[in-house]
Amino acid sequence: MVQNLSRIIAQDKNFLNIINGRRVAALSQETITVLCPSDGLAFATIPAGSAGDVDRAVSAAREAFDHGPWSRMTAVERGRLLTRLGRLIEQHGDELAALESRDTGKPIRQGRADVAAAMRYYEFYGGAGDKIHGDTIPFLDGYTALTLREPHGVVAGIIPWNYPMQIMARVVGAALAMGNTLVVKPAEDASLSTIRIGELAVDAGFPDGVLNVITGYGREAGAALSSHPGIDYVTFTGSPTTGTAIQQAAATNNRGVTMELGGKSPQIVFADTDIERALPVLVNAIIQNGGQTCSAGSRILIERPIYDEVATALGERFNKLVAGPHDADLDLGAMINPAQKRRVENYVRAAAEAGIDVAGRGSIDSNAPAAGFYVAPVLFGAVDPSAIIAQEEVFGPVLSLFAFNDEQDAIRLANSTEYGLVAGVWTKDGARQHRVAKRIRAGQVFVNAYGAGGGIELPFGGFKKSGHGREKGFEALYDMSATKTIIFRHD
Ligand code: ADP
Repeated sequence: MVQNLSRIIAQDKNFLNIINGRRVAALSQETITVLCPSDGLAFATIPAGSAGDVDRAVSAAREAFDHGPWSRMTAVERGRLLTRLGRLIEQHGDELAALESRDTGKPIRQGRADVAAAMRYYEFYGGAGDKIHGDTIPFLDGYTALTLREPHGVVAGIIPWNYPMQIMARVVGAALAMGNTLVVKPAEDASLSTIRIGELAVDAGFPDGVLNVITGYGREAGAALSSHPGIDYVTFTGSPTTGTAIQQAAATNNRGVTMELGGKSPQIVFADTDIERALPVLVNAIIQNGGQTCSAGSRILIERPIYDEVATALGERFNKLVAGPHDADLDLGAMINPAQKRRVENYVRAAAEAGIDVAGRGSIDSNAPAAGFYVAPVLFGAVDPSAIIAQEEVFGPVLSLFAFNDEQDAIRLANSTEYGLVAGVWTKDGARQHRVAKRIRAGQVFVNAYGAGGGIELPFGGFKKSGHGREKGFEALYDMSATKTIIFRHD
């Protein structure tokens, strides 16, 4: 298995940017070395793009939007190209899953799930763009007023390293379905699948300049892209601090933004919950992708009468969790880079030093290379809601448990962080399901379920510090377009 995956990727170790339908190196010829998180070893390079490269990519996208065949294509024709790209992704599924999992350290089954989700985004948006339409508006006598949904123009998509293939797909799908052109900048730690899919988009027949991929460091390529006056709209998924920098950069040109900035998502477990059904979902919500998921369920609020029972059962499950190499396909892989590993370890150390009870701890596989960026999953019990570990997004396999007294207490605790991305409510009481779901400040609320990262069709985005704007589903098509109102006088 290991050799097999390596051979697939060894075919191309020096990845290039895609600008105007062509594969190009950075103008400076400089590269960034790509490390595999599972063993810390270099296996590829990507271009270290900077302002000049961004300028070329934006010019190509600008030209394609302003003068290319793209602007005259119908929504149906654009949709067919997206669907064709989805099929190419499916045909290259093994290669892409191997590439993504080696690049990010995620277990290979998660790489395969990411391919399936990406494929589904292209399928969904391939069929969605021609279903979005405007309104006719009752207006003055002698007038007819109507609205059209028009593309913003050139969109910049700044992508994080946790689910590059999926997040690229939701940006590309919605933006291109509405007739925008794109410059995508993946994260310096995980650019390979984005480049490869950019190549497949050329094969699918997208006109030159419609989908450009430019790699490089955030502070160089990312900053140059978000402040570029040729960009009409910026969509970003990542940390709140970087989101603030990108919004400030886009504001220098008064451009619109969509921001998905993470969370500290709670799951509320009431005493009438079917615990056996809930347990695997509660664990998966924090362990999937090593907890490096914006919508990770990182807090569990448990009604006091069942607190001990649930905490003990979760502790037993945590004690059995094992982190290891992506191709060993264990419960979780390595963290994306040494800085992220240190960050998670620092949160765990500080919480333990503050006297917070460790209610469960997984392990690192004994065969895992010592130079890999692994951390063992940790479960903290009876956490004080004001503790740092209760408030800040760790972005790692660290779960905190809290006890609550009644429904009001549960809602107050659920809403007690600065974030508001996703929540889970577990109860058999139908009226309570509705009451609680309505009172939680989160962009998505699951009832008796939880879908970390899932749901192509489901609008997704945050309240409060988790950001603004909505991705996924039909809602993303509205974010990726603007309303034009046309008024006819005919009296
Ligand atoms: P992390 O801090 O974990 O690397 P970020 O949220 O900073 O996560 O990164 C997400 C994406 O934002 C990456 O593509 C990164 O290159 C990019 N990025 C980072 N800093 C900036 C910036 N100042 N301007 C624009 N993009 C940036």
